[in-house]
Amino acid sequence: MAESKPVRTPLSELGEFGLIRRLTEGIELKQPTSLKGVGDDCAVLRPPSGQEVLVTTDLLLEGIHFDLSYVPLRHLGYKAVAVNVSDIYAMNGTPAQVTVSIGVSQRFSVEDLEELYYGIRAACQFYDVDLVGGDTSASLTGLSISVTAIGYAPKDAICYRSGAQVNDLVCVTGNYGAAFMGLQVLEREKKVLKDHPEATLDLKQYTYVLQRHLQPQARRDAVEMLREAGLKPNAMMDVSDGLSSEILHICHASGVGARIYPERIPIDQQTLSVCEEMGMDPLTAALNGGEDYELLFTVPLAAQKKVDDMGINTIGYIAKPEAGVVAVTSDGSEVPIRAQGWNAFGGKDAK
Ligand code: ADP
Ligand code: MG
Repeated sequence: MAESKPVRTPLSELGEFGLIRRLTEGIELKQPTSLKGVGDDCAVLRPPSGQEVLVTTDLLLEGIHFDLSYVPLRHLGYKAVAVNVSDIYAMNGTPAQVTVSIGVSQRFSVEDLEELYYGIRAACQFYDVDLVGGDTSASLTGLSISVTAIGYAPKDAICYRSGAQVNDLVCVTGNYGAAFMGLQVLEREKKVLKDHPEATLDLKQYTYVLQRHLQPQARRDAVEMLREAGLKPNAMMDVSDGLSSEILHICHASGVGARIYPERIPIDQQTLSVCEEMGMDPLTAALNGGEDYELLFTVPLAAQKKVDDMGINTIGYIAKPEAGVVAVTSDGSEVPIRAQGWNAFGGKDAK
């Protein structure tokens, strides 16, 4: 039986307003802070009484941040929302709204954008945020997506990067390097398919690392767990650009140094085996890979038992600024940590 071709409605058939209507159809506002969503010149929000408003934006461009030859549109939509709410959680806030702006070329159909919005809506539901607006424009080439997330937090709950104190524990949720290795697998398979279009790929043994790249999760659970334990980090951020780069950010913002023990950095078993298969150093992937969307935070030394009990790993200690930001190797020698993670302009970070 011949496969039926998927329906592809050209964007021009609906026009801008028809498209916006189609994409935002049936969206319900669930947050008490959302007074008005899609459909007017502005969304109208009311912050919970006495709380501060947190706002964050990320821009995702085709060919720079994602490759549609192996990233399904629904995963992309989900990820675009997840990475933004991750930034709100990283401030110890609670995300409540997002706006989504898209630039789309004629290469995309209405059905393609519905796929993208399927993922966006799924993430909104998962993280309990309302989609309250956005903008839609034609583009000459490719797809671009910009998501803005809005969240709230009591003033005293907000965790800045600048709050780390000497002798704090440096803690991390989850494990590192998996998303980066997932990306390496996808890039490798893309090359295989280019040279051998008839090849069939078996990706079963890569499920975890692929998922970590394609569908990252914001660590809402960890933030809630810390809150329930009555533990407020002195400094916190999410790990998007690579663990080493983020450690440096916290240390610079706080005016402190750090001693990090690389063997304590959690790395998943599958990440280790993919690294071995590809001849890559797992620690390099873990420190510099990026896109882990885990949380890096510091807490006072006295919180050691609490974080241990939560299954959160301590990878080092905050030190005086004179100590520098160093990795302590197994023989006790100290090597300066440098940022070699993702950098939007390709150069090394100046810091
Ligand atoms: P304006 O001309 O005032 O910018 P638009 O016609 O662009 O308004 O948008 C109409 C409504 O639809 C607004 O509420 C806007 O926030 C919402 N909107 C537009 N594009 C999107 C989108 N891609 N996703 C979600 N909401 C959108
Ligand atoms: Mg507009």
